Amino acid sequence: MFTLPRLIGWLAATLLALSLTIAAPSAEAQETVTPSDRVTRNVVVRAEPSTSAAPVDKMLPGAILPLVGDVPGWFRVQLPNGQQGFVSKAWTDLSSARLATAGRTFKVHVIDVGTGLAIFIEGQDFALLYDAGSQDDLAQGPNNRVVAYIRKVRPDLKRLDHVILSHSHKDHQELMPDVFDAFQVANVWESGRVKQTAGYCKFLKKVVAEGAVYHDAIASNATRAVTFSGSSCKGTVTVIEGPMMTIAPVVLGVQAQMSLLYRDAQAYADPNGNSVVTRLDLGDKRVLLTGDAEGGERESPSTAPRANSVEARLLACCKPELAADVLVVGHHGSLTSSRNAFIDAVGAKVFVISSGPYPYGSVTLPDKDIVSALEARGQVYRTDVKDAECGADPAKPGPDADESPGGCNNVLITIAPPRALTVAYVKPAD
Ligand SMILES: [Zn+2]
Ligand SMILES: [Zn+2]
Repeated sequence: MFTLPRLIGWLAATLLALSLTIAAPSAEAQETVTPSDRVTRNVVVRAEPSTSAAPVDKMLPGAILPLVGDVPGWFRVQLPNGQQGFVSKAWTDLSSARLATAGRTFKVHVIDVGTGLAIFIEGQDFALLYDAGSQDDLAQGPNNRVVAYIRKVRPDLKRLDHVILSHSHKDHQELMPDVFDAFQVANVWESGRVKQTAGYCKFLKKVVAEGAVYHDAIASNATRAVTFSGSSCKGTVTVIEGPMMTIAPVVLGVQAQMSLLYRDAQAYADPNGNSVVTRLDLGDKRVLLTGDAEGGERESPSTAPRANSVEARLLACCKPELAADVLVVGHHGSLTSSRNAFIDAVGAKVFVISSGPYPYGSVTLPDKDIVSALEARGQVYRTDVKDAECGADPAKPGPDADESPGGCNNVLITIAPPRALTVAYVKPAD
């Protein structure tokens, strides 16, 4: 039997549990918080529900953050870097779940950078860039192919909420520095493996100068000094590490999150072993980005992934997490990647290969055995198809008639829940 004080205590606990249940957003109907119409500058996000608590971020007009809780006077929200904070209810509005999820569309652009990789992902409330590199089109400033493409498809865009560098190879990072000049960058994610090249040195200096929250696979909330001794880029760069990369999903926006399935900063002989493998969950679809993740040496796709290869380690640690509708194929469609066991686990029906005419060593990618193996499983889209005639085509983003390959076979994946997924080649001329 309850005594009166126990009954009151039980009632209080039950009501608290009930209010927490009501406040907790469901996966299907994420509630969101946005600055109210009277906000002209920004809403401060604080560490605790108090005006005297430290500011941790700010919401600009139009920004949307997922709701994770509700206390008197304050909404608890999830920030793009995975941390949580509080915003005043007096300056923000709670969306209805129906409004927040209606009409959400996501676009994944695999930009034709010639020989290399750059993927731009956008939702209504976030923008993300995964890699920005090329071996054969190194135009700078506004002629930078990645910057020119994003400016063409999103002339309004000022901020990239997330930039991911899969690994420090030229064909993935060389066009990055201009990106930091062209856009405000909020979060940077990379393994943290240091490569003594001018390209990586310039990238890291830009990250620090930008003041972006930096996440690596080494440590959380620590300071790391990196010294470069090259001739064209040198000196010591002091990196302040924010929350480190984990497998826990990072909320990108409403109905959008990313999972960093593979994160490793060890000094492998080949930086491909550091490739950050990222799964994007956009509405009800999944897109897997693998950078240059490999399964071993150049061998038949039927060969089992070699022990300690990225593909073998992913199969061992998180096979169910690999399932995706779209795969941006590892290492430009090379025989070093896309082992059958790995592709079986992904189970995708749409494959995108980013490649160009510039050979890797003696090999020009993709390898035809990989293309035919993937064609047997679904649709294959390639950024290298019209490279020969595209160099002088003015109908491509970036410098016109520069004779550089690429630009004509940008692959656009549009995801419009529920269920719709379309893929098309686009050529947005500037
Ligand atoms: Zn590459
Ligand atoms: Zn690479």
